[in-house]
Amino acid sequence: MKHRIVVLGAGYAGAFAAGNLARRLSPADTEITVVNAAPDFVERMRLHQLAIGQDLAVRSLADIFAGTGVRLRLARVTGIDTERRTVATTGEDGEDGLAYDTLLYALGSSAAHHGVPGVAEHAFDVTGRSSALRLRERLAGLGAGGTVLVVGEGLTGIETATEFAESRPDLSVALVARGELGAWLSPKARRHLRQAFDRLGITVHEHTSIEAVEPTRAVAADGTSVPADVTVWSAGFAVHPLAAAAGLEVAETGQIVVDRTMRSVSHPDVYAAGDCAYAIGDNGRPLPMSCGSAGYTNMQATAAIIARLTGGEVPTTGLKYYGNHISLGKRDAIFQMVDGDVRARSWYLGGRSAARLKSGVLKGAAWSIAHPTFGMPTRKRRLATAPDRPGVRVTA
Ligand SMILES: Cc1cc2nc3c(=O)[nH]c(=O)nc-3n(C[C@H](O)[C@H](O)[C@H](O)COP(=O)(O)OP(=O)(O)OC[C@H]3O[C@@H](n4cnc5c(N)ncnc54)[C@H](O)[C@@H]3O)c2cc1C
Repeated sequence: MKHRIVVLGAGYAGAFAAGNLARRLSPADTEITVVNAAPDFVERMRLHQLAIGQDLAVRSLADIFAGTGVRLRLARVTGIDTERRTVATTGEDGEDGLAYDTLLYALGSSAAHHGVPGVAEHAFDVTGRSSALRLRERLAGLGAGGTVLVVGEGLTGIETATEFAESRPDLSVALVARGELGAWLSPKARRHLRQAFDRLGITVHEHTSIEAVEPTRAVAADGTSVPADVTVWSAGFAVHPLAAAAGLEVAETGQIVVDRTMRSVSHPDVYAAGDCAYAIGDNGRPLPMSCGSAGYTNMQATAAIIARLTGGEVPTTGLKYYGNHISLGKRDAIFQMVDGDVRARSWYLGGRSAARLKSGVLKGAAWSIAHPTFGMPTRKRRLATAPDRPGVRVTA
């Protein structure tokens, strides 16, 4: 029997991890399967662009994994039995199951509704492809003068509002911020952000908390009504309750609590990476849900899995958080570095250079997913046979 590694999710964390594992472990005694609901890699960082009508490159997962040895199963994960070490899935062929010896959980996240009434029924979001496409259809049917309200002043909210205002100057775009817009930026970067909002004609409602969403308006805590033909909910990411339901130890956020090697603290044969991992970074704070964190956590998880299976010492790879890179439409951006306490450094990069850099980051991230085994050591390592490594199944 081969050692069965199952990777759940083929997003930024899972796709890269699966390729990395396939490149470095011998197919003679390992079998790597990646399970993903959608047939294509979804470039989540561009979903606000998809929503406003731009077309994104389609990268089929079958093409991405062709020749890598990774088995692809297109199905939705519906449950995990950590006792039996099986994953329940539902796909085109109906319900099915999949057994694992090592599980890497990388199912990402979706929009956090925070229980606000009306969000599920009336609001749109850009956190997944299907929701972004639903919004795209709605916006395409919205005539000049239509009002679009983006709720949330985080990175995704800012990127969404600016992209929409730039691409559709005929619409009236507004953003609701619970606090002050860009409060976490350095003073100079904050000024830059405000100027960009002014230039693009985006109205900002600061110190406003939305308590209900209705078909044509959002209602704030103080009863103020903000008109919105379309409300785009962008108040953070939430993870699927699947991990908690499986009995894995999770944080308040529902993310899987992992040790420094991305191994579940409750289930040693389970690892987590990306948005669904509650991982403490090198600065001693939980890593933010971001593409950068997805990169760092999947590198650490795969390094640990390979070392434990092959009998090597588990290496420590970096878990960094340098800062934030925010697009402000296509020709402007802000790159804000942070210090070890996640406070903005005074230096920031803004304007066209920052936009070009961001564009390079997006292209680089997508390219590395499309070439998941590029640049990895090619030496295929055999599994260790030592009896003190429980869970290792080795070929005869
Ligand atoms: C509009 C937008 C802009 C963003 N911009 C930035 C940015 O500029 N910089 C940055 O660092 N981060 C950004 N992010 C955040 C970044 O996209 C996420 O942090 C990143 O995608 C996390 O990677 P992941 O692999 O954990 O999850 P994902 O990339 O979401 O991958 C999860 C995968 O799991 C699959 N999946 C989910 N549930 C199931 C299931 N039940 N069964 C089977 N498959 C399933 C999904 O289809 C997906 O393929 C942005 C996010 C959005 C939405």
